[in-house]
Amino acid sequence: MNGLNLLWGVLILAGLGLFFGAILTLAAIFFKVEEDPRIAEVEKLLPNANCGGCGYAGCHALAEALVKGEVTKVSTCKVGKADKNFQPILAYLASHPGKDGKTPPSTL
Ligand code: SF4
Repeated sequence: MNGLNLLWGVLILAGLGLFFGAILTLAAIFFKVEEDPRIAEVEKLLPNANCGGCGYAGCHALAEALVKGEVTKVSTCKVGKADKNFQPILAYLASHPGKDGKTPPSTL
């Protein structure tokens, strides 16, 4: 009798695991957010110190703001160097328009 109860317990827990796993999988598929690939590229060009000196939570957040045009001065990053970081970011953004065909208004 105890072996049968144990088997039912294992089956019920496995069933619950499969059920909630399926729900999480479907949620991940349907609620997936596509990120502009330029954000990752601009983030790579930033110093990636993630110091917050720019007033953003980290380099990813500033990269996102630059790509969206919410920040126009790439020198908002307090750690970056003009020749190593800022000029490559300006060149990248100028040559990679978004889906709308526009490039963000970036300056040094
Ligand atoms: S100041 Fe520069 S290095 Fe620091 S978090 Fe901002 S973008 Fe990253």
